[in-house]
Amino acid sequence: MQVHTKGIILKKVKIMNDKRMLSVFTEKYGKISVAVNNGSGRGKVKSALAYKPFTLGNYELYKVRDSFRLGKGETIKSYYKIGEDVDKYFEASYVLEFTNKLLIENEPAPGIFNLLSDYFEILERRTKEYSFLTLVYQIKAIQMCGYMPQLTECVSCGKKNTDFLFYIEGGGAICRDCAQDNGLIYKSDFDIIEKIVFISRNSIRDMEKIYLETDSLEKMKSLIRGYTKYHLDISDLKSEQMFKC
Ligand SMILES: [Zn+2]
Repeated sequence: MQVHTKGIILKKVKIMNDKRMLSVFTEKYGKISVAVNNGSGRGKVKSALAYKPFTLGNYELYKVRDSFRLGKGETIKSYYKIGEDVDKYFEASYVLEFTNKLLIENEPAPGIFNLLSDYFEILERRTKEYSFLTLVYQIKAIQMCGYMPQLTECVSCGKKNTDFLFYIEGGGAICRDCAQDNGLIYKSDFDIIEKIVFISRNSIRDMEKIYLETDSLEKMKSLIRGYTKYHLDISDLKSEQMFKC
């Protein structure tokens, strides 16, 4: 069956000879794997444009049960400016790798698909503090997958409207009393938690003109990365290693 869908390439892996595997995030079918030949014959790449990174493409696919073969592809929008700026390139590469790990194969996730297109569009325009946008993307994506930390009441006793600490292993906010019971050293994360809640209640587009002070940004980054590592087993991304070089 021939089908058409919008898609974004998440990952390209060279298998052998001219063969490549693409991990494509499609609007209709979620993350799918497709084999392509660079040479001639079945699956030949007919429009090289659509296989560039940070590109929203329209793909023709041949679907047989749950597997796909790639037909023609055409570019809808190329966010090529991301590739021209090394910092934007690293941020966007990190987001693609994070998304590839977050998504479950053949499970549609149209909300995250739109979020990723919006992320590219805003990142292309943004002039500084790109990692804040990445953080917003991660928080919104976690939320859409149903893994949002519980932040408006204590994960242990349910108390609301109090000063909280972010308790990664507990899955969200914990109050002063329960933190003590769990042997945690209490240093209020109230401001950071408020900011994460604010992000979760607004769209990524609403965050376009928002900038954070470095301390808050670094603290939030470390909490969210710790949280995704513990609860979603997403860590040590290759693009994260590149940041450290
Ligand atoms: Zn409590």
